[in-house]
Amino acid sequence: METTPVYRPVGRCIYCDAGRHSANRAKLGDEHIIPEAINGALVLPEASCGECEGKINWFEQYCMKQTLGPLRYALGLKTKRPKERPETLPLQLEVGGEWITREVPVEWAPVALLLPVFDPPEILFEREPTRTNIYTETFKIVNFATGDMGKLREEFGATKSRSYQASLRGDRFGLLLAKIAHAYATAERADIDNFNPVLPDIILRDPAAPPLPYLVGGIKKLLPESTSFNELGLARGETKYGVTWIVPIRLFGSLGAPTYQVVVSVERPPFAIKRRTIR
Ligand SMILES: [Zn+2]
Repeated sequence: METTPVYRPVGRCIYCDAGRHSANRAKLGDEHIIPEAINGALVLPEASCGECEGKINWFEQYCMKQTLGPLRYALGLKTKRPKERPETLPLQLEVGGEWITREVPVEWAPVALLLPVFDPPEILFEREPTRTNIYTETFKIVNFATGDMGKLREEFGATKSRSYQASLRGDRFGLLLAKIAHAYATAERADIDNFNPVLPDIILRDPAAPPLPYLVGGIKKLLPESTSFNELGLARGETKYGVTWIVPIRLFGSLGAPTYQVVVSVERPPFAIKRRTIR
């Protein structure tokens, strides 16, 4: 049985440093490091204000519903709002030699895990940022549920079906990785020397923040399926910017998902970051 560490309350918003949740609520919100919707169990108490929660919800909800929704339903992961869980999904079916789209019951649809494979964060190459958008050209697709072809044939006259195509937005998924990494690093900061967080402005989408692929990326090599569903770690490195801490993240590792790397702390931030994120 895995033990889940209990973290001490932070008492400040880990994104904007606010001391209270909102005008009419003092106590800051508890922060799930990995969203509860994908089985995240680590919680950082009293760690986010209402305004930052709103900004995080924008990309987190998209990833949980549009990108990972069908897979979450197929895996039977929990939801806070079971009534909002869709009963049907738009699925491509071959009927009479033509591909058409029909709403089909969720349990009849074949479902695949679709996640981007990212290049490493550019800062690790010790050069200035060259890209403004995160590349989502390479994907890892894992067919998860086969669906029920018999029912699709019976009900729609379908001879074939394509796996449900989840909607993936690399930028929003990258922001989710940044949020997970920053929350985890803050929770584990006692183990991090020279902790100088570099992600908050990216997470809050400050127009002056460094570009996402500068600090968020992954490893191109796909690792074998892991024994754990979600994995988080801390890795210490040295770059010309001093001590540089990385959080490796693997979500759905037991399904063979890609591994991501997020730079969370840089001892002597280069100009691209210093100009902007250090207040
Ligand atoms: Zn805040």
